Amino acid sequence: MQELTHYINGAHVKGTSGRFADVYNPAIGEVQAKVPLATTAEMDQAVQAAAAAQPAWAAVNPQRRARVMMKFVDLLNQNMDKLAEALSREHGKTLPDAAGDVQRGLEVVEYCIAAPQMLKGEYTDSAGPGIDMYSMKQPLGVTAGITPFNFPAMIPMWMFAPAIACGNAFILKPSERDPSVPLMLAELMEEAGLPKGILQVVNGDKEAVDAILDHPVIQSVGFVGSTPIAEYIYGKGCSNGKRVQCFGGAKNHMIIMPDADMDQAADALVGAGYGAAGERCMAISVAVPVGDDTADRLIEKLVPRVEALKVGPYTAGNDVDYGPVVTAAAKANIERLVQTGIDQGAKLVVDGRDFKLQGYEDGFFVGAHLFDHATKDMDIYKTEIFGPVLTTVRAQTYEEAIGLAMDHEYGNGTAIFTRDGDTARDFANRINIGMVGINVPIPVPLAYHTFGGWKKSAFGDLNQHGPDAFKFYTRTKTVTSRWPSGIKEGGEFSIPVME
Ligand code: NAD
Repeated sequence: MQELTHYINGAHVKGTSGRFADVYNPAIGEVQAKVPLATTAEMDQAVQAAAAAQPAWAAVNPQRRARVMMKFVDLLNQNMDKLAEALSREHGKTLPDAAGDVQRGLEVVEYCIAAPQMLKGEYTDSAGPGIDMYSMKQPLGVTAGITPFNFPAMIPMWMFAPAIACGNAFILKPSERDPSVPLMLAELMEEAGLPKGILQVVNGDKEAVDAILDHPVIQSVGFVGSTPIAEYIYGKGCSNGKRVQCFGGAKNHMIIMPDADMDQAADALVGAGYGAAGERCMAISVAVPVGDDTADRLIEKLVPRVEALKVGPYTAGNDVDYGPVVTAAAKANIERLVQTGIDQGAKLVVDGRDFKLQGYEDGFFVGAHLFDHATKDMDIYKTEIFGPVLTTVRAQTYEEAIGLAMDHEYGNGTAIFTRDGDTARDFANRINIGMVGINVPIPVPLAYHTFGGWKKSAFGDLNQHGPDAFKFYTRTKTVTSRWPSGIKEGGEFSIPVME
């Protein structure tokens, strides 16, 4: 059994707590490694190393820090296959999807190569007589991030790349479900030229998270995961005086207008609803067709597509549409929620409950499910299922459809499919959700824009990546400067004249 480590001060360090979590290969349902769960003392060891290394890193000019990012991008590309394979083996997603996970993180690293530009300050010449005023963007010091299982490459990079480009040290507490890729990323950052102690990986569970939240040296905490934990981390981190941003769960609605291209909408829904087995915070989990005729046409197009989805292990390469879910507990939770849907009266038009994959009977595979005629009081509508289950709620009018999305407690992403520009424009303007797609089902903004939901999907003032990341990972210092009169007035160089 492989025993994973922490990565502290440039070295793989064995865990000392005696506590471990099992890391599964979800395709075969077997434990493939043990990951150590850190103690408060181990977290403190990493914080001390970070605090010792950070001032020298902050003093490296931004251009040189950006060069480390450039080299890191090269190394990510060179190691893409290896990273994707390790990611799929622990997470279960398909190999092309795993490469996409790395790629979407890589793009934020590329954006961080702009650090010299992003970190330029402001200057006012002659703000008063002989007085100049300037603002500097300085790093925070030691920063930390806590990341979820579903994007083990992308989300760590969304955090540590800008943090480090700004001159901070960063401690990553990845998900205990798939910690291998984060460890590999830390090694590659050092190969790219990052000094020891600037990026460390401390594996763990609640004890490690609390050690981050309570540590007086850690200045900021980034979190991505489920909403209850996001609320806990935001509350505790803020009350401990830290700068905190937390991104939580989702229930993303896609509205299908009567004028939409129904084939296009159905294709979009199967990709966005079932890709990565629905384990994406930007997955579409609710389809809202407007009008019964639209709903009937949509369901007719969806059923054969959902029934044809190919489910299998990542080793099948491009031949599978999605893989297993991450754990047996996740599978059981999805099955429980599907049962509540049936019990509460939704119509299960594609039933994936009997799905079995020959040779992979112990894997955590879940067949594709499609519900029709769900209503907003049902658990399958209110709860984030995080599995291959698409729920259809029929609306009679556009107003009813937009109202559903607006009343839901989550506000991460949403989409509308229509041919009418006026409807699309109204939707984009009125909707109280952070990321909006118009005929685009998963509107994940690119690296140079920012990513973040509204309502219970995000806590804090700033989004992830894009210009907001450079704000989150720096603080402003403004200097007002007046120099006393010096030699310029002390000497007299013109020919003395007699008055
Ligand atoms: P999770 O909340 O279970 O875990 C996230 C992190 O929190 C992990 O590192 C975990 O170790 C830690 N954690 C878990 N329980 C804890 C506790 N009691 N105290 C302190 N820390 C704890 O989430 P997950 O299952 O890994 O990820 C799936 C969730 O993440 C979904 O809800 C999904 O929507 C959300 N997500 C959101 C975004 C976004 O940007 N909004 C992106 C990806 C995932």
